[in-house]
Amino acid sequence: MHELESQGRTTIYSVLSFGGGTQSGYLLEQHFRGEIEYDFIIFSDTGAEPEFIHEQVAWWQERQRSYGNQTPFLIARHGSMPAGLEEMLMRYIYTDYQRLQLPLYCSQLEQQTGEMKPAGMMPRQCTVDFKIVPVQQAARQAVLRELQLGPRQRLPKDIGFIIDIGFSYDEIRRIQSFQSPQYAYMYLAYPLVEQHVTTEASIQELEAGGCPVRRSRCYLCPFQCDGSRDIGMDWDEIIRAEPLSFLKACWFDEHLRIAQRSGHKLLRSLPYLHYTRQPLAQVYREAYRGLLVLHGKDLEAWRSGWEKRMQLRSLAG
Ligand code: SF4
Repeated sequence: MHELESQGRTTIYSVLSFGGGTQSGYLLEQHFRGEIEYDFIIFSDTGAEPEFIHEQVAWWQERQRSYGNQTPFLIARHGSMPAGLEEMLMRYIYTDYQRLQLPLYCSQLEQQTGEMKPAGMMPRQCTVDFKIVPVQQAARQAVLRELQLGPRQRLPKDIGFIIDIGFSYDEIRRIQSFQSPQYAYMYLAYPLVEQHVTTEASIQELEAGGCPVRRSRCYLCPFQCDGSRDIGMDWDEIIRAEPLSFLKACWFDEHLRIAQRSGHKLLRSLPYLHYTRQPLAQVYREAYRGLLVLHGKDLEAWRSGWEKRMQLRSLAG
């Protein structure tokens, strides 16, 4: 706030970047109770959230109505890939698109021994590209509309934004910057870190208030765990709640490596969605086989739909 004011930005908009899960849900509930002011609530649809997260977003919209709260609740999407992460991955698999924006686990062939060895993790660029930037762009566009300016016009010099991100106190290491790298007049703030609220504490508070408590993430997120590594975002939940999404994740996992082996990609290692650097369909072999029998046709319909879209895209140049 002081930084923005020192730049002469005296009209400051407060925005909640709402992820549909627990931490930003905690902030949203505080807003509905009148404890934090927001000018906009913005949910960025990555195109790969499980259906239960969309149901939670709808629950929060209903909650807003029950409170009589009038804050604009906007849905944002990636500017050039409106179908989100699925579109990015399909482009990578079916076209010469080269960017992989997911935090994938990589393996490389060691020349001397001929063995596959872990080769680090790719950067988590998807959070910035498919969540934070679309929220920033939607906030900017909303204010331009409010001021009756066109989408490409400049904002007046006195305007600034503070975007609240729901990282919790135990996720403090996720904070990389307070200044938006994209817009000089936007700052990022982390109220749960400032309030020392942990993920667990936010979940307990939501549970006590009868609010939904499923953790938000994409169905194919490589940060999902299982067993002793369980952090509340696990593959088992996707297998149970979203069998078709799990099959899609297995399909992407396999076809990313097939694309790598084509020799047309710049990346020099093999990517995996699962932290063990094994094929996802192999890690959950029994579940995968059973679900393929039940949902194989739906998986094929989804795949061929995407293939047609990618062909049309190539024809359009
Ligand atoms: S939930 Fe995972 S896959 Fe989705 S944007 Fe965040 S890091 Fe990327």
